[in-house]
Amino acid sequence: MADGATRERVPAVEGWFSIGDAPALIGNRCTSCGTVFFPKASNFCRNPDCNGEVFADAELSRTGTVWSYTDAQYQPPPPYIPRGDPYQPFAIAAVELEAEQMVVLGQVADGFGIADLHVGSRVELVVETLYSDDERDYLVYRWKPLS
Ligand SMILES: [Zn+2]
Repeated sequence: MADGATRERVPAVEGWFSIGDAPALIGNRCTSCGTVFFPKASNFCRNPDCNGEVFADAELSRTGTVWSYTDAQYQPPPPYIPRGDPYQPFAIAAVELEAEQMVVLGQVADGFGIADLHVGSRVELVVETLYSDDERDYLVYRWKPLS
């Protein structure tokens, strides 16, 4: 059993977000038209006016404003990973990213619920442990309300 100092922190879903001191979602940018995508675009640009096929990874805004939110009373389908058995309801926020102005869905940080959210309130991206095994903590991104 590893102790706290040697535990490895890894994303529960590979390639969707960084996990450093200032975690961020990782999308990509079309090198032809500059449009940013999350999840990442591949093969062809989703901008109908662009023929771009080359993309560069891009870290997205770490803050945004709540566009909509809800309580998930039923377990979502995969790739959602249940945080407990039996299923525990949690809050979900659709957040418009500060710079990109795209809406990204995510769970709300531990300890916060829909009572802490309203449309237009500001949130910050954090990473939290979804589950652990003997060696690793598996992390997910969540939206944390800013006061
Ligand atoms: Zn493009």
